[in-house]
Amino acid sequence: MSELEKLQEKHRAEIKTLQDSCLHSEKSGWMEHWWAPGHSSGYCVRLCERCGKTLETKSHVDIPLKEHPYLALPSNIRTIIIKLCTEDNLSLEDAQKKYFEQNP
Ligand SMILES: [Zn+2]
Repeated sequence: MSELEKLQEKHRAEIKTLQDSCLHSEKSGWMEHWWAPGHSSGYCVRLCERCGKTLETKSHVDIPLKEHPYLALPSNIRTIIIKLCTEDNLSLEDAQKKYFEQNP
């Protein structure tokens, strides 16, 4: 095992110890989950603010609009996305995707 691999293993073990002992009392808001930069997995997650563990995973469509990460976007962008939803009959997720494809 290389020095780098030993350090990585030690780091993973320390994170696991932290996550296993954490009470996860500080939950984040819903965030988009990206499998690669700019590529949404279609899911949103809530993480523990203290240890970073994923506490909940839900599909975009199962998250109430008032808790949706879409609300974190600036209001002018939200307006354009809602316009795309109604004019092109898109879901919120598809409208966001379309917006960010057109405005990278
Ligand atoms: Zn935690």
